[in-house]
Amino acid sequence: MAGRFAPSPTGPLHLGSLLVATASYLEARQRGVPWRLRIDDLDAPRAVPGAAADIMASLETHGLLWDGEVDYQSDHIDAYEHALERLGELGHLFYCTCSRRQLRSGQPYPGTCRGHRAARADAAIRLVVEPEPIHFVDAVQGQQQFYPANESGDFIVRRRDLIIAYQLAAAADDGAPEIDHVVRGADLLDNTPRQLYLMRLLGLVPPEYAHVRLVTFADGSKLSKQTGAAGVDSQTAGANLTAVLKMLNCAPPPDAIGWSCAEILRWAGEHWNITSVPSHAAVIERN
Ligand SMILES: [Zn+2]
Repeated sequence: MAGRFAPSPTGPLHLGSLLVATASYLEARQRGVPWRLRIDDLDAPRAVPGAAADIMASLETHGLLWDGEVDYQSDHIDAYEHALERLGELGHLFYCTCSRRQLRSGQPYPGTCRGHRAARADAAIRLVVEPEPIHFVDAVQGQQQFYPANESGDFIVRRRDLIIAYQLAAAADDGAPEIDHVVRGADLLDNTPRQLYLMRLLGLVPPEYAHVRLVTFADGSKLSKQTGAAGVDSQTAGANLTAVLKMLNCAPPPDAIGWSCAEILRWAGEHWNITSVPSHAAVIERN
């Protein structure tokens, strides 16, 4: 059994991703299982050179030491293609040639290409989504019920540029027998039903989920490179950890100011309770 932290190499570790990493680390430590680091690097066009190394250096500076080798999704392409093949054999896939303009953003896929079952070049591959509810209990967000058929509709599992879609890769990796729990940001909560749907089709046992609070700016925008969020400053690692632990409702005592990151994390490990993490976003000032 294990937990994992799975950043995309699209920018430095900012306060929001440090919060997720810390929560994920503490949950794995409390369960007494390894904490894996997976780099979700399939979307090569969006990857920023050096970002993965940068994220790893930040994690180390903050005492968030992962177990074992770093896992790269780009090393698993064969496994994803195999899953795709399996879904095809089961009759769940079709080839979509709709242009972005034909599809109304934010609307579920209207099923236009469902009849295109034969492989064709220059097409995305979509999954037929049957109208079935998906239920799960999230350790932070509570009982969840989704209808992927109404929300996303038939979603993309391999992009037109042949890149395996995030949903399929995440389902295959998080559905692996070793991963028994997933702690990640609440921005991914509405992706989970699609991944659970895929796991069900692929016969994978889903992990337990905890979608922890986001860190946003006052205007509600999520911290990211696009919104100008700075990477965490390694010179203030202890203060950064203390700040995210406060947001996680696990604030160290006042005398923790002089503690090392390892000491702060040891204390937090003894006081950690994922169910007391607030579900709503934490708002910070733009720096
Ligand atoms: Zn289509």
